[in-house]
Amino acid sequence: MGTGTAVVWLRNDLRLSDNPALSAAAESYDSVAPVFVWSPDEAGAWSPGTASRSWLALSLASLFVDIGRLGGHLSILAGPTASALLAFARTTGATAVYWNRRYEPALAALDAHVERRLAAAGVRVHVFAGSLLREPEALTTGSGSPYQVFTPFMNAGLRAAPVDPPIAAPSLLVSPHALPAGLRPQDIAGTSRSGPDLSIHWSPGESGAASAAASFFSEIVGDYGENRNHPDRLGTSRLSPHIAFGEISPRTLLQRANAIVSCNGSCHISAGAEAFVRQLHWREFAYHLLHYHPHTPERPLRARFDVFPWSRDPDALEAWQSGMTGYPIVDAGMRELLATGWMHNRVRMLVASLLTKDLLLPWVDGARWFWERLADADLANNTFGWQWVAGCGADAAPYFRIFNPVLQGERFDTDGAYVKRWIPELEALPAAWVHRPWGAPSGVLASAGITLGREYPQPIVDHASARLRALAVYGSLRDIVK
Ligand SMILES: Cc1cc2nc3c(=O)[nH]c(=O)nc-3n(C[C@H](O)[C@H](O)[C@H](O)COP(=O)(O)OP(=O)(O)OC[C@H]3O[C@@H](n4cnc5c(N)ncnc54)[C@H](O)[C@@H]3O)c2cc1C
Repeated sequence: MGTGTAVVWLRNDLRLSDNPALSAAAESYDSVAPVFVWSPDEAGAWSPGTASRSWLALSLASLFVDIGRLGGHLSILAGPTASALLAFARTTGATAVYWNRRYEPALAALDAHVERRLAAAGVRVHVFAGSLLREPEALTTGSGSPYQVFTPFMNAGLRAAPVDPPIAAPSLLVSPHALPAGLRPQDIAGTSRSGPDLSIHWSPGESGAASAAASFFSEIVGDYGENRNHPDRLGTSRLSPHIAFGEISPRTLLQRANAIVSCNGSCHISAGAEAFVRQLHWREFAYHLLHYHPHTPERPLRARFDVFPWSRDPDALEAWQSGMTGYPIVDAGMRELLATGWMHNRVRMLVASLLTKDLLLPWVDGARWFWERLADADLANNTFGWQWVAGCGADAAPYFRIFNPVLQGERFDTDGAYVKRWIPELEALPAAWVHRPWGAPSGVLASAGITLGREYPQPIVDHASARLRALAVYGSLRDIVK
């Protein structure tokens, strides 16, 4: 171990295990000063939304305790980042700053700026990689260009050199003698606008992430391949906010999943683990795309979509945001989002399809609302998901795929349990009508206590004609959108 102090700048890697920057600093220096800098304005157009801020505050509170258990101290400072880190290095006597790389365009630019400022002041910077299985530049096509299609990207990943195993958490963190007074985690939540009480639904922090992973791999993974499409079942890991804040690393998850694949050979538990590894690769693909196409959070990957004639309809947007479109599966998803900061993947696709195809509203409006309300808001995944559904991204859904919210509801939420969980107004409606209450006979509606337009809205748009309209608009631009 060398002498002196190193700062570890923590950002979206709020964990002790498999944290390369933290472990390297702890191995190389006598004392380590972990710090988080709260400076949302420096994230540019994509500063953390309501749900992310709430999650962050809870996650930092948990990390504060975890670091304290190892003998260390987590400082939380207010930005601007470069000045805050420089002052922090001076106070603590640190000669080096360690961090793990970020990939969001504004944050990567901020990191480069901070690195220059620290280097100019004689502070050494050590940058590690800990948020992805492989760096975004690691995989390119035979011609050396980035991938545009998922399956070859994933296959290249599976053929590439094995991913390094996760590294253990440091066993001890020694604090420097002098530490400045900082913010408290709740000061970050205090800046949050109204939002759900996330602690009702989640356990933010590294130990919460570990428990969620443990229950996924012991109870859920076996049927993941089938159940992951059903929002009425506990069929997915619900790890996304933990992953977004780096409370558990993708390498740790890959190792757990691979252990199941290799132990169980051909049984279906192994198929579930393989399906999960595939989902981890969708995340990798989203980061690969964001890295090579940094304009995509605001603009379509397929440039010819720049001229798409999106509609403007603030009332329709508001109905969609508040879960009042009259399509129960869509409204259930939007209300789940408002209440919990999360939405099931299949339902994310359905609500995004209704917005961009049935209502022809801009996908960016949807992406911004998700950003504001998702606890797992992740610029790469969110951008990718929205562009995929809108048909303007990489490997996107073909333009003629327009999800039918009734058929999708009947297929994936057959008894209507998911809809009824989030739309109590429809509780007494028989399953046969729960995904299309407007079709129910008046007597059925009356005995369920529903008058459409009063307890629950009429559909905001007629799906059959909206579908034809979308096909006409997308189709007339076929030479543009192909
Ligand atoms: C319109 C739209 C917006 C989305 N916005 C986000 C977002 O902001 N943040 C986010 O993490 N995911 C986003 N997703 C992807 C996906 O819906 C969530 O990752 C998933 O629902 C999280 O639930 P889970 O952790 O139970 O997933 P699981 O099925 O258990 O998957 C495990 C992990 O794999 C990754 N993953 C799974 N599906 C995808 C996917 N389609 N794309 C990229 N990574 C994936 C996630 O990290 C997830 O936690 C979006 C999808 C759509 C269609």
